[in-house]
Amino acid sequence: MPSDSTTRPRCSIPSCCKFIVAHKLCVMHYERVRKHGSPYVVLPSYVFRTLEERFWEKVDKHSPNGCWLWIASKDTYGYGHITSGSSPDKPGRLILAHRLSYQWVHGEIPESLELDHLCRNRACVNPDHLEAVTHRDNCLRGTGMTATAAKKTHCPLGHSYDLYNTILESGRKRRCRLCRNADKKRRYHQRYLSHSALPSTAHRQPKYTSPPWTITPFSFVSPGK
Ligand SMILES: [Zn+2]
Ligand SMILES: [Zn+2]
Ligand SMILES: [Zn+2]
Repeated sequence: MPSDSTTRPRCSIPSCCKFIVAHKLCVMHYERVRKHGSPYVVLPSYVFRTLEERFWEKVDKHSPNGCWLWIASKDTYGYGHITSGSSPDKPGRLILAHRLSYQWVHGEIPESLELDHLCRNRACVNPDHLEAVTHRDNCLRGTGMTATAAKKTHCPLGHSYDLYNTILESGRKRRCRLCRNADKKRRYHQRYLSHSALPSTAHRQPKYTSPPWTITPFSFVSPGK
């Protein structure tokens, strides 16, 4: 059963409103007493630093190609991230480092745009290496499957993807018309003409056999005869 937050006792330090864990103190104040002997000890490393101060100590500007490399924590895609400062009304959250540096220099990023790394290095936070582009442009500029396919000008057999030789399959995927027609022809031959190429069909059972009785519509014989 979760205890009611209104009745749970709070930390005995006057300015603190966290729940107690031991000796009428919250976790933070209890740990301070345990380690330093007083709940009011604040080590220099815990002194408040602004977001800019914390940001720049995580950046290495000595890369030969001008990249500003993020040397702190990164997400699974390789983009650097940092915790925004928390305030009493708003908890801290993870923000992407390259978006932050771009916003400091160029202002807000429009909602329809996303940032493209011109240097192809996701850990770079140099605002000069970033450009706000649409999602489509970002995909086509990259090195992924979509971009690789979009850069092709000829089909695997060397036919040009020009205006007349290109079919859009499902409205998006390009298909070579010459190859498509050749495929169709080959499938037609496989499906309809291969049976006639068999040596003989005499060994096959006929699909339909006539029934054992015979229907003679006009064979009614009158009882008088
Ligand atoms: Zn406390
Ligand atoms: Zn760069
Ligand atoms: Zn082709």
